[in-house]
Amino acid sequence: MREQAWPNFPRLTTLHLGGRARRMFAVENADDLEALPDLLADFALAPLALGNGSNILAKDGDHDMALVREAMPEKLEILGPDGPKTVVRVSGSVKLPRFLRFLAEHALTGLEGMAGIPGTVGGAIAMNAGSFGCEIGTFLRAVTVFSEGHIQALDRNQLSFGYRHFAFPGSRAFFLILEAEFGFESGTVDAIHRLANTHFLAKKAHQPIALASAGCLFKNPSQGPAAGKLLEDAGFKGRELGGVAFSDMHANFLVNKGSGTASQALELMQLAQEAVEAMSGIRLEPEVRIVP
Ligand SMILES: Cc1cc2nc3c(=O)[nH]c(=O)nc-3n(C[C@H](O)[C@H](O)[C@H](O)COP(=O)(O)OP(=O)(O)OC[C@H]3O[C@@H](n4cnc5c(N)ncnc54)[C@H](O)[C@@H]3O)c2cc1C
Repeated sequence: MREQAWPNFPRLTTLHLGGRARRMFAVENADDLEALPDLLADFALAPLALGNGSNILAKDGDHDMALVREAMPEKLEILGPDGPKTVVRVSGSVKLPRFLRFLAEHALTGLEGMAGIPGTVGGAIAMNAGSFGCEIGTFLRAVTVFSEGHIQALDRNQLSFGYRHFAFPGSRAFFLILEAEFGFESGTVDAIHRLANTHFLAKKAHQPIALASAGCLFKNPSQGPAAGKLLEDAGFKGRELGGVAFSDMHANFLVNKGSGTASQALELMQLAQEAVEAMSGIRLEPEVRIVP
């Protein structure tokens, strides 16, 4: 097991904010998984699964926690047909852009809306990430997780999905997605590339994807205007606090201008929640995972 003391959140997250965790463990094989519970207990650290850190706002300071990464040999393979679908197996650590390229090369369609999301497959499943009307959970057939000290193989009918929500019976705050099986229908390579490119360009035109952010800061309310519209109406588009700001391109993106701190981000976030609630009666809920 690869181990690192005091890993830095700014280097591990796309917002580049926050302090340090006491340890990071990279789980490379089944023996490492077996050893993990005792290691966590010995250090008395609360674990957090970490993918590409693209949905995480880590607080400033040193935290009594352990980051755990799935670092087993990568799998990205076609298992074969099942009716009209082709079954694909992929490790949790594979980056989404690589997964999307693989699907396009094999003319498998469904996830084109997710072009430009900078996460891993494991992080995307844990968040049930989605975009342009597509959610990753829709295509999931099975998942292998490490949870409560055991490897569990779970079928689709044991999984529940919601808006940025994923769970299974007995799932706790910490579990590690090791690998997943998806089913995709066939399309044509050209059409898949075109659609992915259209979605990517739309994202680029409306979201500050080149800046340090964690994607959308708040979830859209279940009814009524989107979070971005509420923030804009409450005067938060482009609003700055120290080194962080709500983007002037998309009000629901909080960006670190380079010199920001997590405390500033949390303060600006709270100001926005209060202003939106006073204006509309709606309390915006964070979509980013605030750690710890
Ligand atoms: C520019 C930009 C654009 C974005 N656009 C979108 C978008 O359109 N739609 C969208 O849904 N999101 C979007 N995001 C947010 C983010 O990219 C997704 O939520 C992504 O799927 C998170 O994956 P990750 O590997 O970075 O997870 P992390 O940020 O590392 O973790 C997120 C959560 O998943 C858990 N997790 C991570 N890996 C695992 C694992 N292997 N097993 C179990 N749990 C795990 C973590 O514990 C944490 O709770 C965007 C972010 C950025 C920076």
